[in-house]
Amino acid sequence: MLKDQDRIFTNLYGMGDRSLKGARARGAWDGTGGYIKNGRDWIVEQVKDSGLRGRGGAGFPTGLKWSFMPKESDGRPSYLVVNADESEPGTCKDREIMRHDPHTLVEGCLIAGFGMGANTGYIYIRGEFIREREALQLAIDEAYDAGLLGKNAADSGWDFDLYLVHGAGAYICGEETALLESLEGRKGMPRMKPPFPAGVGLYGAPTTVNNVESIAVVPTILRRGAEWFAGMGRANNAGTKLFGISGHVVSPCVVEEEMSIPLRELLDKHCGGVRGGWKNLKAVIPGGSSVPLLPADICDDAIMDFDWLREQRSGLGTAAVIVMDQSTDVIKAIWRLSKFYKHESCGQCTPCREGTGWMMRVMDRLVTGEAEIEEIDMLLDVTKQVEGHTICALGDAAAWPIQGLVRHFRNEIEDRIKYKKTGRVSSIAAE
Ligand code: SF4
Repeated sequence: MLKDQDRIFTNLYGMGDRSLKGARARGAWDGTGGYIKNGRDWIVEQVKDSGLRGRGGAGFPTGLKWSFMPKESDGRPSYLVVNADESEPGTCKDREIMRHDPHTLVEGCLIAGFGMGANTGYIYIRGEFIREREALQLAIDEAYDAGLLGKNAADSGWDFDLYLVHGAGAYICGEETALLESLEGRKGMPRMKPPFPAGVGLYGAPTTVNNVESIAVVPTILRRGAEWFAGMGRANNAGTKLFGISGHVVSPCVVEEEMSIPLRELLDKHCGGVRGGWKNLKAVIPGGSSVPLLPADICDDAIMDFDWLREQRSGLGTAAVIVMDQSTDVIKAIWRLSKFYKHESCGQCTPCREGTGWMMRVMDRLVTGEAEIEEIDMLLDVTKQVEGHTICALGDAAAWPIQGLVRHFRNEIEDRIKYKKTGRVSSIAAE
């Protein structure tokens, strides 16, 4: 369990003063200019050595991503873009940073901007986040007034401007290239890759898009040292992590914990456990709505980190843990996600545009049981045709939850279909 002194987000619950004065009292902006004077390579090395992996879902090593940015400008500027679109169902961790501890992010932006050679940063915030935008804008204004942003930011010798841009509420704008399109004033539609943003990103210039949490942890990593961060969690899964736990637990919450914490410990220590006790657990979606769910028997030993969950053919994603107890109609729960992805598909590529609708319509029938048993494999086949065949990851995100459902709850789907046809309950359904 994470020790109090190792917490990065010490005002996560908004109990303290979120203004610059309060943030400074908690250690923010301490020595920032000095770290920058150590040089760009030093900062990138520190982030690499810390083992930090992107907190937005993909888990790509953050320092490595920064190192893809050009060392010398070819005349184009470089940009840092922070993805604060946080729209994945179940995910609500960046929101807490922005409304209660915004200076961790603002300071992180300056350091990250310098680390990748960017004099300008944009934070793209989700349309529905009104209060968060206000809190963040206030923090940015305070930082400008205190000389921590702008010319010679924080007395570092580096000029850095930071802009906050409000999205219009489309889920797809959380995809990094759709986000860039939206920033440029166009419809949020993902771009084909390559070219990758580090080569051709915002306004055709080198750009790195990072998640809020990935950036907000960086100042503390520099202050406490890469080794400190790397010392938490299992190998290759370093650091602390914000977990957002929702669903059938006694007290849903967002909490900062050590990476690789066992799922059961996470739920018992911070959420009062599963509603009705651990035995009442049916399934968990461990990383936000786009990763496959895990049934209760796998949850018994689940370790919450990138590698363990990937070995179980699921993922840590955004570490948004959605807990479902025995009362859950798990087929309907996944159907609801299918409906969401169908609604949010930008429609640009055929497998996603047609496939999400197709998958949702079969799921409609699986919920009521008015389907044929063969349709389960047909559905699975369609998910495989969508997965990996689209411009962006929304296609995968729509396919994976269904694959997880069929993998772990095929009996329940079959039982429902059989029951609809015969009126008889099988031994499994009768349990
Ligand atoms: Fe749009 Fe879906 Fe294609 Fe992504 S996968 S670009 S959301 S149609």
